[in-house]
Amino acid sequence: MKPKVAFFSFTSCEGCQLMFLNLEDELLDLLGLVEIVKFREAMKEVLADEYDIAFIEGSITTHSDIERVKEIRKRTKILIAFGACATIGGINAIKNFQPLEDVRKYVYGEDWEKIDTVPTMSVGEVVDVDYDIHGCPVSKSEILDVVTSLALGKKPRQPDYPVCVECKLAENVCVYDKGLVCLGPVTRAGCGAICPTYGNKCIGCRGLISDPNVNAEKDLLAERGLTVDDILKEFRMFDGLSEVAK
Ligand code: SF4
Ligand code: SF4
Ligand code: SF4
Repeated sequence: MKPKVAFFSFTSCEGCQLMFLNLEDELLDLLGLVEIVKFREAMKEVLADEYDIAFIEGSITTHSDIERVKEIRKRTKILIAFGACATIGGINAIKNFQPLEDVRKYVYGEDWEKIDTVPTMSVGEVVDVDYDIHGCPVSKSEILDVVTSLALGKKPRQPDYPVCVECKLAENVCVYDKGLVCLGPVTRAGCGAICPTYGNKCIGCRGLISDPNVNAEKDLLAERGLTVDDILKEFRMFDGLSEVAK
């Protein structure tokens, strides 16, 4: 029996689900390992209402979201938070830096009180999450790794070292040398340092590594007269729910 896989979308742009569909060369092989039973972006049918693996894309931002994700948790053996909106709140968490009433009035106008909304939460703040797939959007290679590992009954590898490691392996010129402030020293790797590879700074879409304060990469910042705290402030873009961004 192949594991039954379902996809669910909450507050998001649905770009992470699109990344799954963009696995053009590997999709047929993946479908040999798992059975997709619910995936609104790709199929009309709903083939099961109990799942082995549920991918949850998007942040939790309404009371009905809370009830819905709790119900999915009851129906799935493994729950995966899929993409930055789900794993760390992502861009949706920016609204938490304003009074909720002001945000509701600004977005919904005179009908603001009729619209259900709560401060943005990651999926893990509401239900137990078994695995995170980070990024905005998620990387295709990480989707492949996680799905293949779980289908084979193995634990997926989850990088917990900084983007700088991948950046140095790619032999990139450090963007600090161009005067940019890059979040690579404290951001979780797994994207292949794609932004610095194309000459841009890392803006932290994969969230913080577990212990950024003791990371040796702070030497890189010290050389440029910066501290870890200087760059942690920049984490509000994607990681606004984390303590360091508050
Ligand atoms: S993490 Fe980014 S790409 Fe994925 S759903 Fe959220 S906003 Fe879209
Ligand atoms: S600071 Fe940024 S550009 Fe420099 S090595 Fe680290 S990830 Fe690469
Ligand atoms: S380099 Fe940084 S911003 Fe770019 S994809 Fe990787 S983690 Fe995200």
